[in-house]
Amino acid sequence: MNFSDLGLSPKVLAAVEAAGYTEPTPIQAQAIPHVLQRRDVMGIAQTGTGKTAAFTLPMISLTEKGRARARMPRTLILEPTRELAAQVEENFNKYGINHKLNVALLIGGVSFEDQMRKLDRGADVLIATPGRLLDLFERGRILMTGVEILVIDEADRMLDMGFIPDIERIVKMVPFTRQTLFFSATMPPEIERLADQFLQNPVQVAVAAAASTAKTVDQKLVKAPRKDFEKRAVLRDLIDNASELKNAIIFCNRKRDVATLYRSLFKREYSVGALHGDMDQTSRMKTLDGFRNGEISLLVASDVAARGLDIPDVSHVFNFDIPIHAEDYVHRIGRCGRAGRNGWAFSLVTSADDKYLSAIQSLTGDDVEWTGEKAEFEARDKKPKRRSKKPSNADSTDEPAQAKKTPAEDETPKKKTKPANTKQEKKPQRSKKRDGDHDDGPTPQGLGDHVPAFLLQSVR
Ligand code: ADP
Ligand code: MG
Repeated sequence: MNFSDLGLSPKVLAAVEAAGYTEPTPIQAQAIPHVLQRRDVMGIAQTGTGKTAAFTLPMISLTEKGRARARMPRTLILEPTRELAAQVEENFNKYGINHKLNVALLIGGVSFEDQMRKLDRGADVLIATPGRLLDLFERGRILMTGVEILVIDEADRMLDMGFIPDIERIVKMVPFTRQTLFFSATMPPEIERLADQFLQNPVQVAVAAAASTAKTVDQKLVKAPRKDFEKRAVLRDLIDNASELKNAIIFCNRKRDVATLYRSLFKREYSVGALHGDMDQTSRMKTLDGFRNGEISLLVASDVAARGLDIPDVSHVFNFDIPIHAEDYVHRIGRCGRAGRNGWAFSLVTSADDKYLSAIQSLTGDDVEWTGEKAEFEARDKKPKRRSKKPSNADSTDEPAQAKKTPAEDETPKKKTKPANTKQEKKPQRSKKRDGDHDDGPTPQGLGDHVPAFLLQSVR
């Protein structure tokens, strides 16, 4: 199958060729012809399978004719996070090099005035996070009556983030005659219900089972103690002994644990960055760029911050916490082993995780092997959990606060510590560079415009 078989315009084909793509991915091959025929499309394919180009390429073809009017965008793409929105914009820039597309981005953290100017000029493509879009709409700065194509991307993540009411409101503001494209990596029942509601006689395009893990990922479970500082020691051990570790994403369930783990690794001079929902746009982008270009080898992240991010070529994924939602496991480990490359996914499992682990196993159908010294950790786990004043671990000096951390303890770096750098040969290159203000400051009160309040509470 070639891109030229799909019905895309010559200008788009030239841009695809310039981007270096030789063959469409399965979701692209199956979805693009239907999009070009103006059908509603529901596309289900796991993370990293090229869903973005499955809608951007035909959209550029379709919008070649016609012009946008002031404040009336012709197409609207909804994304759950700023990063994803920015990535979609990059896609339009890349594939739209032969077009004069006016692309506006409505997300927190980018200049409002610049984006308004673009909208006033008439946007061919508007990419937005739901909160920011509603905000602008309510202020009367934008009209939705000209929208011909509506894209709801990363629908399962929208659901997780509580955006569905917002999406329902937005869909009502867009003309009924629009074409709707709906993309998701997984298809839980709520998402199916929404697709029914938003799409008209859609073509369903599903690639692989909705919750399958890539065959190229070597998955392992590692028994870990429940105490965070001991768990961090287990993680460091895995990192230090991992074979072929180029770079890794380390997932935590809670954003405050992202911050704690980041600081712990940073103190030990690992080359590490962090990504969580509270960071401002500039530091997030900076961290991501550093990770993409190899300046940072380890990225500690939450699901919200990492969902759908286009980070090619990650060799390892570490689940510092077992995800509470089984689908997140699929998304997380989908960050490695992409495009046929090998990947390794290690998940730290404590005695509190049985329930989540069996949910994951029944979703993926994978029987994941254990590795490491299970028994030893089990024994350690049985020791009294609280009030152990002096854990014998080197960690005890800089990270005493465990289960009962107060937010203040969590957010304030301990000053009086020397880097407990006991190991000599750690695999990832180190960098003393600390970028931006992420993680160390107190949690900002106002937060990014589109992060719903419930997300900011810790989940356990
Ligand atoms: P998804 O939205 O499904 O998670 P993306 O659209 O972010 O996936 O694409 C994942 C990666 O695959 C990106 O790096 C993208 O540039 C790359 N990609 C997309 N289409 C192709 C293709 N036809 N050939 C090679 N790489 C592709
Ligand atoms: Mg995507």
